[in-house]
Amino acid sequence: MPEGPEIAREADQIRAAVLDKRVERVHFGLPHLSRREAAFEDARVVSVRPRGKAMLIGFDNGLTLYSHNQLYGRWYVRKAGSLPKTRRQLRMAIETQDRWALLYSASEIDVLDEVGLSMHPYLAKLGPDVLDPTLEAATISARLEDRRFQRRGLGALLLDQSFVAGLGNYLRSEIAFEARLHPDQRPLDLDPADRRRLARATLKMARRAYETKGVTLPRSQAAALRRAGQSWSRARHWVFARARQSCRRCDDTIVRFDLAGRRIYVCPTCQVLR
Ligand SMILES: [Zn+2]
Repeated sequence: MPEGPEIAREADQIRAAVLDKRVERVHFGLPHLSRREAAFEDARVVSVRPRGKAMLIGFDNGLTLYSHNQLYGRWYVRKAGSLPKTRRQLRMAIETQDRWALLYSASEIDVLDEVGLSMHPYLAKLGPDVLDPTLEAATISARLEDRRFQRRGLGALLLDQSFVAGLGNYLRSEIAFEARLHPDQRPLDLDPADRRRLARATLKMARRAYETKGVTLPRSQAAALRRAGQSWSRARHWVFARARQSCRRCDDTIVRFDLAGRRIYVCPTCQVLR
């Protein structure tokens, strides 16, 4: 599933293609939405915002297109008149004179007015967005002291979109490693320095992944691995998807286990369970 950094990059592409443009047509591939198409005639796109793992595209008619990619949804941006070669189902098309933004396979699509937007059940539950440039480590640190989150294991908490929105499976492994914390620890077990480290690691890993198209290793380190002949996917992460390989910091062997139903990777030396 795409995580916050991937959704944010999709938003950048859509923004570059359709922001401030008048639409010639908005088309829905879901029958129950087709009667809403007329409301978008001649409307102008005024905002493209990722929120958690959802996309919000606002128009000057007061309506917002909400979509959530779930597992299979995928955005394409194409020149007007051309469609991608894919077997996926077209679910939504935002067509301007020059460019089309096309959403395939996603089934969670909605047309929301201002009230619908403020009351949307998924959006209402979301915590602060990890890629919001105004989000500070101190805010995340304070959330770690919140009673709602204090007794949760870090591995589960880092996937909870109500804690911080936009984190997903590779980021949770990388954040816990960067913070040198074991995912079975709880915020309650951490001292203030641990909490600050975890908060900073959360922002650092997500922002780096956004800037590098998904690489969480420092740029220089990833580049050195590539020069040494490693593939992109093997020069990408500290621990994620690296079971039985050596830790890049201490040489101990990375272990994989399942946590909250999904795989997580840990260095037993760098991330001691205290
Ligand atoms: Zn290590």
